[in-house]
Amino acid sequence: MKKIALIAHDNMKEDLVNFVKTHVDFFKKYPLVATGTTGKKIMDATGLDICRYQSGPIGGDQQIGADIATNTIEAVFFFRDPLTAQPHEPDISALIRLADVHKIPIATNISTAELIIQALKTR
Ligand code: PGA
Repeated sequence: MKKIALIAHDNMKEDLVNFVKTHVDFFKKYPLVATGTTGKKIMDATGLDICRYQSGPIGGDQQIGADIATNTIEAVFFFRDPLTAQPHEPDISALIRLADVHKIPIATNISTAELIIQALKTR
């Protein structure tokens, strides 16, 4: 089964934690990967088992990009902060670009995230 990737910028982490909590029955069906801090917060809040990569700014986004490039990702939930500049902006752009290259669903806000979950549930 392909993996689901989870990433949230600092101002969005609480939103993603709450989102995963709400949909925990969905997320527990998938192997999960996440950037370091995001993964820890979600694991602590939900008890889900998550493979934690590096923190985003030191390479975690690129690790998820590598998973996309090797076709092991079902969907990405990337709650990015649209109002704060990030030091690793090039990595963020690269991740979104790779999702587009490989046509992987990527939710960058909660509304799209809800729709992706509804769609995947019907599979
Ligand atoms: P983090 O990385 O989960 O380690 O904070 C996310 C990011 O800021 O890109």
